[in-house]
Amino acid sequence: MADASDFIDLRSDTVTTPSAAMRDAARDAEVGDDVYRDDPTVNELERRAAEAVGKEAALYVPSGTMGNQIAVTVHTEPGDELLLERESHIYRWELAGAARLAGVQTRTVDAGDRCVPTPEAVREGLVTEDLHRPGTGLLALENTHNYRGGTAIPTDRLDAAAAAARDAGVLVHLDGARVFNASVALDVPAPELVASVDSVMFCLSKGLGAPVGSMLAGDEAFIEAARRVRKLFGGGMRQAGMIAAPGLLALENVDRLADDHANAERLADGLDALSGFEAPEPDTNIVVVHTEGASIPAADLVDACADAGVGAVEFDTYTTRFTTHLDVDADDVDAALDRIAGAVEEL
Ligand SMILES: *Cc1c(COP(=O)(O)O)cnc(C)c1O
Repeated sequence: MADASDFIDLRSDTVTTPSAAMRDAARDAEVGDDVYRDDPTVNELERRAAEAVGKEAALYVPSGTMGNQIAVTVHTEPGDELLLERESHIYRWELAGAARLAGVQTRTVDAGDRCVPTPEAVREGLVTEDLHRPGTGLLALENTHNYRGGTAIPTDRLDAAAAAARDAGVLVHLDGARVFNASVALDVPAPELVASVDSVMFCLSKGLGAPVGSMLAGDEAFIEAARRVRKLFGGGMRQAGMIAAPGLLALENVDRLADDHANAERLADGLDALSGFEAPEPDTNIVVVHTEGASIPAADLVDACADAGVGAVEFDTYTTRFTTHLDVDADDVDAALDRIAGAVEEL
């Protein structure tokens, strides 16, 4: 086992630790009671976050999961259907929160490698309320698409899916945990990329490097309702400026996401060169590697990597995820590749 300080942690972009500047900002933050809306740092963060995605207002929430679940709750009535992609984070990795918290039933669409359903698939998935059937209350989309390997979904595809829902009077939420990765990869300003959705959640605590928090953005009325649901979910925080201050600095980290994308490409190239490994070229900072060809189950690869001092996560039986971020550079990627190659030889 490599010593802890030498561990190259590619499990997720959530593992970054706050920079010295972020720690200083937290210590020096002007604060107040944010439930009374008295925290100037949180207020500033909410203003700047709304601007960053071109929406009227934004709300600071403790996590991306809470942001998504608040959006589902505000946009739907209990007993509605939530239409979403089969591999989406809200469906796969949020503990059935849509059912438990919002009281909605989920209906999934298989969008395959497109990651976002076609307008036809959306229309097919929409349900009109009648004596026997619930109505669709919300369509949720995801960009970048985590499970599909950080896919950056082009604006026109998002717009087409959103338009199909809106034509039927159904609102649209975007799980944009990594929407700035998509914006940088596609070279499309974030406000343009999310213009067709009613609400968007993005994480400050992933590639942008903040220690805590996500933002939920939409129009004023939506955010006012979201503020009440945040309180209901136990997410009303007091002197939250202490953690919002690093979030303000995180918003400055958008352009440097391009470095993470270049490092991910370097990592994918190296992994793809290993015998029996298949690592498609990543759009952004998530590298997915398939090892069925090498007959190495992901669980074994993850263990071997951990022993060699590289963090990764199992995605599926033969699929492993590596994620680049603010705390790893090209040299770390090269070192990680050396270690992985060595570990694989032993398997
Ligand atoms: C990480 C992630 C979330 C949830 O964010 P947390 O802050 O970990 O709760 C939601 N959606 C996607 C696509 C994510 O990658």
